[in-house]
This record gives sequence, C-alpha cells and structure tokens, in this order.
Amino acid sequence: MTRTATLVLSAQDVPGILERGVAMELYYVSVNAQKTGEHEVHTWLCASMPNVSNRLLVGSFDNCKDALKAAKKIYAQVDGCARCCPECNKR
Ligand SMILES: [Zn+2]
Repeated sequence: MTRTATLVLSAQDVPGILERGVAMELYYVSVNAQKTGEHEVHTWLCASMPNVSNRLLVGSFDNCKDALKAAKKIYAQVDGCARCCPECNKR
C-alpha cells in the first residue's frame, strides 16, 4: 500500500511523531459508556471500534497509558479496550 493523504495530521499537530521516526497509533474513545460507566479507548485499527457517530478522536500516542490519560480530559471514567489495549483494560 502506498502512502495516502487521508491522514491530515502534520508534524506540528503531533509533536514527537517525526523525532521518534515511528508512526504512533491514533486512539479513539467511545461516546457511549459501557455498563460499568467507563468510556472505552480503542486504537484506530481495532475491530471493536465504535462507529463514526459513537467515537471521538483522542489523538496520537505511542502507548495506551498516554492515550487513557488524554481521554480522561474528555471523560472522567475511561478504560482500555480488552481487544486492542489489553494492558490498559481494567473492566
Ligand atoms: Zn479496541
């Protein structure tokens, strides 16, 4: 697959992406909370990713812990998805 222009983030938008020389994962948080009250955080390629109307972009991070920290600014209660963020999954 060749590089496409679908990702419109620039180096200024995501500091660190070029310094590290690796593309970081994009993380999303679900709008609808799960039964226990947490909003689940997913990587952009997760098979359990909520549909477009039920997710918010959190940002680009190289680990789920940083993504959860940022997601907490959107929702007080967040949790990593068991499927794509097992190390951050508590519920
Ligand atoms: Zn997931």
